[in-house]
Amino acid sequence: MQKPFVSRSHTSATETSAVARELISRLLPSDAPQQIALFLDVDGTLVGFSPTPAVTSISPAMRQLLDTLTAQLGGAVAIVSGRSMQDLARLFPDPTFAHVGAHGGEIRTPAGLVARAPAPDAVTMATVRAAMQRAVASDPRLYFEDKGASLALHYRRAPECEQQVRELVTTLGREASGLRIQWGAAVAELRGDSFDKGSAVESLLGMQPFQGRRPWYFGDDDTDLPALQYVASAGGTAITVGDRLRSRLPANFYQPIRGEHLDGPSAVWAVLRELSGALSSAPQ
Ligand SMILES: [Mg+2]
Repeated sequence: MQKPFVSRSHTSATETSAVARELISRLLPSDAPQQIALFLDVDGTLVGFSPTPAVTSISPAMRQLLDTLTAQLGGAVAIVSGRSMQDLARLFPDPTFAHVGAHGGEIRTPAGLVARAPAPDAVTMATVRAAMQRAVASDPRLYFEDKGASLALHYRRAPECEQQVRELVTTLGREASGLRIQWGAAVAELRGDSFDKGSAVESLLGMQPFQGRRPWYFGDDDTDLPALQYVASAGGTAITVGDRLRSRLPANFYQPIRGEHLDGPSAVWAVLRELSGALSSAPQ
């Protein structure tokens, strides 16, 4: 019986580089290495988690590598995040690559807006907003984030409040038609139910410069599952990051589809550096 996934422990930089080199040499199509498309979640995948989302930053070296990969892949790179578009614009100013925000609710390329899901009912959102703000008023360690199309209550600074937050958001979700609950890493959200990251990836793969390419998706969380599963079903490579998803995926997720696992953001960046190096030496 095949193992559901290959577990690799690669704590040193040397081991991380070796894992990245092996993965790229095994997965990058030798006949047309430039014919892949990259889809990258942000939190937990490209960067570790911060006490609040507002203090996360992308280093100049990281940004440079993303821009280089985007050029090498003819523009077929997308950031796919649960963050608001405004927050993504702060993290990635003047992007050369596509942006998907709000868990798939809005898609932009450098050329402009591609799609935006309809805004959830304003009265329903106002009710949810008020309830989450009351929770923060009662415990300021909680952090409320209004993303427009979704409303989030973070409890990273108060982990013992998880049950309380889950109960509140479950109750709000039950009473709010047209919204779905999105559980995340120390965060619970309510957002529109007509889209997800999978539908966003599918939309981008239907248009240039993504169309016809083999997708690689990197993600670490529940919100990435629809995209990981879509990419796998479309003949691409689904790469889970960290420990959050591994225990909850179906046992057959990694076989026979092309599924991979990396330990965390440093391993993801090692793979991206290795990929860029392989593309730079590949025949055009
Ligand atoms: Mg994530």
